[in-house]
Amino acid sequence: DFETTIKIIVVGNGGVGKSSMIRRFCKGEYTDTYKKTIGVDFLEKEKYIDSVAQNITFMVWDTAGQEEFDAITRSYYRNANGCVVAFSTVDRDSFEAVEKWKSKVEAEVGQIPMVLVQNKVDLIDQSVVSPEEVENLSKKLKLKLYRTCVSENLNVDKVFEYLGEQYVKN
Ligand code: GDP
Ligand code: MG
Repeated sequence: DFETTIKIIVVGNGGVGKSSMIRRFCKGEYTDTYKKTIGVDFLEKEKYIDSVAQNITFMVWDTAGQEEFDAITRSYYRNANGCVVAFSTVDRDSFEAVEKWKSKVEAEVGQIPMVLVQNKVDLIDQSVVSPEEVENLSKKLKLKLYRTCVSENLNVDKVFEYLGEQYVKN
Protein backbone atom coordinates (compact mmCIF):
# COMPACT_ATOMS: atom_id res chain seq x y z
CA ASP A 1 0.00 0.00 0.00
CA PHE A 2 1.84 3.09 -1.22
CA GLU A 3 -0.99 5.58 -0.84
CA THR A 4 -1.92 6.25 2.74
CA THR A 5 -4.14 9.07 3.98
CA ILE A 6 -4.40 9.67 7.69
CA LYS A 7 -6.45 12.03 9.81
CA ILE A 8 -4.49 13.86 12.48
CA ILE A 9 -6.13 15.92 15.20
CA VAL A 10 -4.39 18.61 17.22
CA VAL A 11 -5.69 19.26 20.72
CA GLY A 12 -4.67 21.50 23.61
CA ASN A 13 -5.81 24.73 25.20
CA GLY A 14 -6.47 27.82 23.09
CA GLY A 15 -3.43 29.91 22.28
CA VAL A 16 -0.77 27.20 22.45
CA GLY A 17 -0.13 27.39 18.70
CA LYS A 18 -2.24 24.59 17.20
CA SER A 19 -3.52 26.50 14.18
CA SER A 20 -0.07 27.98 13.58
CA MET A 21 1.48 24.51 13.73
CA ILE A 22 -1.02 23.07 11.26
CA ARG A 23 -0.48 25.94 8.89
CA ARG A 24 3.29 25.71 9.24
CA PHE A 25 3.35 21.99 8.52
CA CYS A 26 0.82 21.97 5.69
CA LYS A 27 1.51 25.31 4.01
CA GLY A 28 5.00 26.26 5.16
CA GLU A 29 3.63 29.59 6.39
CA TYR A 30 3.70 31.44 9.69
CA THR A 31 2.38 34.77 10.86
CA ASP A 32 2.12 36.01 14.42
CA THR A 33 -0.96 38.05 13.65
CA TYR A 34 -2.86 35.06 12.39
CA LYS A 35 -6.58 34.84 13.10
CA LYS A 36 -7.80 32.37 15.66
CA THR A 37 -9.52 30.19 13.11
CA ILE A 38 -8.21 28.99 9.81
CA GLY A 39 -11.70 28.94 8.37
CA VAL A 40 -11.57 25.37 7.12
CA ASP A 41 -11.91 22.00 8.82
CA PHE A 42 -8.51 20.70 7.85
CA LEU A 43 -5.40 21.30 5.80
CA GLU A 44 -3.63 18.63 3.78
CA LYS A 45 0.01 17.79 3.25
CA GLU A 46 1.59 14.93 1.37
CA LYS A 47 5.01 13.93 2.62
CA TYR A 48 7.45 11.12 1.95
CA ILE A 49 8.35 9.41 5.22
CA ASP A 50 11.83 7.92 4.98
CA SER A 51 11.59 5.57 7.94
CA VAL A 52 8.65 3.67 6.43
CA ALA A 53 9.53 4.39 2.79
CA GLN A 54 6.17 5.71 1.74
CA ASN A 55 4.13 8.76 0.94
CA ILE A 56 1.59 9.75 3.51
CA THR A 57 -1.14 12.31 3.03
CA PHE A 58 -1.81 14.04 6.32
CA MET A 59 -5.26 15.56 6.80
CA VAL A 60 -4.63 17.78 9.79
CA TRP A 61 -7.80 18.99 11.49
CA ASP A 62 -8.07 22.30 13.29
CA THR A 63 -10.56 23.18 16.01
CA ALA A 64 -11.54 26.72 15.03
CA GLY A 65 -11.29 27.90 18.62
CA GLN A 66 -14.06 25.73 20.14
CA GLU A 67 -11.52 24.23 22.55
CA GLU A 68 -11.96 27.31 24.72
CA PHE A 69 -15.63 26.51 25.25
CA ASP A 70 -15.08 22.78 25.69
CA ALA A 71 -17.35 22.43 22.67
CA ILE A 72 -15.37 20.32 20.24
CA THR A 73 -17.77 18.09 18.40
CA ARG A 74 -17.58 14.33 17.93
CA SER A 75 -16.96 14.77 14.22
CA TYR A 76 -13.65 16.43 15.05
CA TYR A 77 -12.37 13.29 16.77
CA ARG A 78 -14.11 10.75 14.55
CA ASN A 79 -11.79 8.35 12.70
CA ALA A 80 -8.65 10.12 13.86
CA ASN A 81 -5.50 8.10 13.17
CA GLY A 82 -3.14 10.18 15.24
CA CYS A 83 -3.15 13.02 17.73
CA VAL A 84 -0.92 15.90 18.78
CA VAL A 85 -1.44 17.08 22.37
CA ALA A 86 0.08 20.53 22.57
CA PHE A 87 0.86 22.97 25.35
CA SER A 88 2.79 26.22 25.54
CA THR A 89 6.06 26.93 27.33
CA VAL A 90 4.56 30.16 28.67
CA ASP A 91 1.09 28.93 29.69
CA ARG A 92 0.97 26.90 32.89
CA ASP A 93 -2.75 26.07 32.50
CA SER A 94 -2.10 24.57 29.09
CA PHE A 95 0.53 22.25 30.61
CA GLU A 96 -1.81 21.21 33.41
CA ALA A 97 -4.56 20.49 30.89
CA VAL A 98 -2.51 17.95 28.91
CA GLU A 99 -3.76 14.89 30.78
CA LYS A 100 -7.37 16.01 30.37
CA TRP A 101 -6.90 16.38 26.61
CA LYS A 102 -5.34 12.94 26.33
CA SER A 103 -8.23 11.35 28.26
CA LYS A 104 -10.75 13.17 26.15
CA VAL A 105 -9.25 11.91 22.92
CA GLU A 106 -9.05 8.35 24.26
CA ALA A 107 -12.66 8.49 25.41
CA GLU A 108 -13.71 9.40 21.87
CA VAL A 109 -11.41 7.30 19.70
CA GLY A 110 -9.59 4.84 21.97
CA GLN A 111 -5.87 4.21 21.64
CA ILE A 112 -4.31 5.97 18.67
CA PRO A 113 -0.74 7.17 18.12
CA MET A 114 -0.28 10.30 20.20
CA VAL A 115 2.54 12.73 20.81
CA LEU A 116 3.18 15.42 23.40
CA VAL A 117 4.33 18.79 22.06
CA GLN A 118 5.82 21.65 24.04
CA ASN A 119 5.51 24.64 21.72
CA LYS A 120 7.00 28.16 21.89
CA VAL A 121 10.44 27.03 23.04
CA ASP A 122 11.75 30.34 21.67
CA LEU A 123 10.23 31.81 24.85
CA ILE A 124 12.17 29.45 27.14
CA ASP A 125 13.48 32.46 29.13
CA GLN A 126 9.90 33.11 30.24
CA SER A 127 9.09 29.44 30.79
CA VAL A 128 6.52 28.53 33.42
CA VAL A 129 7.26 24.78 33.27
CA SER A 130 10.56 23.16 34.17
CA PRO A 131 12.22 20.68 31.81
CA GLU A 132 11.93 18.00 34.51
CA GLU A 133 8.20 18.51 34.93
CA VAL A 134 7.71 18.13 31.21
CA GLU A 135 9.85 15.00 31.01
CA ASN A 136 8.04 13.49 33.99
CA LEU A 137 4.67 14.10 32.40
CA SER A 138 5.83 12.58 29.14
CA LYS A 139 6.99 9.46 31.02
CA LYS A 140 3.87 9.26 33.14
CA LEU A 141 1.55 9.50 30.13
CA LYS A 142 3.87 7.35 27.98
CA LEU A 143 3.91 9.97 25.23
CA LYS A 144 6.91 10.80 23.13
CA LEU A 145 7.86 14.44 23.66
CA TYR A 146 8.84 16.99 21.02
CA ARG A 147 9.82 20.55 21.85
CA THR A 148 8.83 22.82 18.99
CA CYS A 149 8.99 26.38 17.89
CA VAL A 150 6.42 26.95 15.19
CA SER A 151 7.59 30.52 14.61
CA GLU A 152 11.12 29.35 13.75
CA ASN A 153 10.02 26.01 12.27
CA LEU A 154 11.87 23.88 14.80
CA ASN A 155 10.85 20.19 15.00
CA VAL A 156 7.41 20.74 13.50
CA ASP A 157 7.84 18.21 10.69
CA LYS A 158 9.21 15.65 13.15
CA VAL A 159 5.97 15.63 15.10
CA PHE A 160 3.94 14.63 12.06
CA GLU A 161 6.56 12.25 10.70
CA TYR A 162 6.49 10.43 14.02
CA LEU A 163 2.70 10.05 13.91
CA GLY A 164 2.82 8.86 10.29
CA GLU A 165 5.49 6.33 11.18
CA GLN A 166 3.53 5.06 14.20
CA TYR A 167 0.42 4.71 12.09
CA VAL A 168 2.18 2.63 9.43
CA LYS A 169 4.00 0.44 11.96
CA ASN A 170 0.91 -0.32 14.07
P1 GDP B 1 -4.26 27.96 18.92
O1 GDP B 1 -5.30 28.74 19.66
O2 GDP B 1 -3.74 26.81 19.73
O3 GDP B 1 -4.69 27.54 17.56
O4 GDP B 1 -2.98 28.94 18.75
P2 GDP B 1 -2.58 29.88 17.51
O5 GDP B 1 -1.97 29.08 16.42
O6 GDP B 1 -3.71 30.75 17.17
O7 GDP B 1 -1.39 30.71 18.17
C1 GDP B 1 -1.60 31.57 19.28
C2 GDP B 1 -0.53 32.64 19.27
O8 GDP B 1 0.75 32.04 19.54
C3 GDP B 1 -0.39 33.34 17.91
O9 GDP B 1 -0.15 34.70 18.13
C4 GDP B 1 0.82 32.67 17.30
O10 GDP B 1 1.47 33.50 16.38
C5 GDP B 1 1.67 32.40 18.52
N1 GDP B 1 2.65 31.30 18.35
C6 GDP B 1 2.45 30.10 17.76
N2 GDP B 1 3.57 29.36 17.78
C7 GDP B 1 4.51 30.10 18.39
C8 GDP B 1 5.89 29.89 18.72
O11 GDP B 1 6.50 28.84 18.46
N3 GDP B 1 6.52 30.90 19.38
C9 GDP B 1 5.90 32.06 19.70
N4 GDP B 1 6.62 33.00 20.33
N5 GDP B 1 4.61 32.31 19.39
C10 GDP B 1 3.92 31.34 18.75
MG1 MG C 1 -6.57 27.72 16.65
